[in-house]
Amino acid sequence: MEGGKLLVFSAPSGSGKTTIVQHLLKQEDLNLEFSVSCTSREPRGDEEHGKNYYFITLKDFKQHIKNGDFLEWEEVYRDNFYGTLKTEVERIWSHGKNVIFDIDVVGGLRIKKKFPDKTLAVFVKPPSIDELKIRLKKRKTESEERINMRIAKASVELATAPQFDKIIENHDLKTALQDAHDLVAKFINSPSEDSSK
Ligand code: 5GP
Repeated sequence: MEGGKLLVFSAPSGSGKTTIVQHLLKQEDLNLEFSVSCTSREPRGDEEHGKNYYFITLKDFKQHIKNGDFLEWEEVYRDNFYGTLKTEVERIWSHGKNVIFDIDVVGGLRIKKKFPDKTLAVFVKPPSIDELKIRLKKRKTESEERINMRIAKASVELATAPQFDKIIENHDLKTALQDAHDLVAKFINSPSEDSSK
């Protein structure tokens, strides 16, 4: 595989990474395309197949694992599998674009390890666990039990932040969006070797 650059955004859910990724996708100067992941979870709200995720059955997901189709995959929550197909990255690179990922910390670090020179791995840090709780409750798309599961995972995820190339603190969204744009612009315009420095 060869082609453009890989921009990984990872964070606990509710930290604002999806908002940041969606903002970056609108910036034409960055030439980004979103890596649509496969997931075995049900669609939420107005999510669309092929846009937010490829929603597939657990059986099909496991078949893709067996076939070696994934660049990385993870059982992010129990029985909820998420993964990036190799063909997804190839598809985006064939368009001459850079790939942007909204994936969990384990998957993000795995991509960084596979393509160390091509990847900028960014961790989006929420102001606090309490703030995270408030944001997840505001979404009103999930049960109390699922929210608690995400909060429990967040503490573990926060501990991985130092392994990322860059950390964006999301206290103030406007500042976070600007920081993200500046980091990505610098990275995609630099040669591959020491590009995350
Ligand atoms: P959600 O259910 O809120 O859409 O996503 C749950 C978590 O799974 C988020 O942290 C999201 O970024 C992550 N995720 C989404 N796609 C992938 C993927 O392809 N691989 C991995 N490892 N995580 C993913």
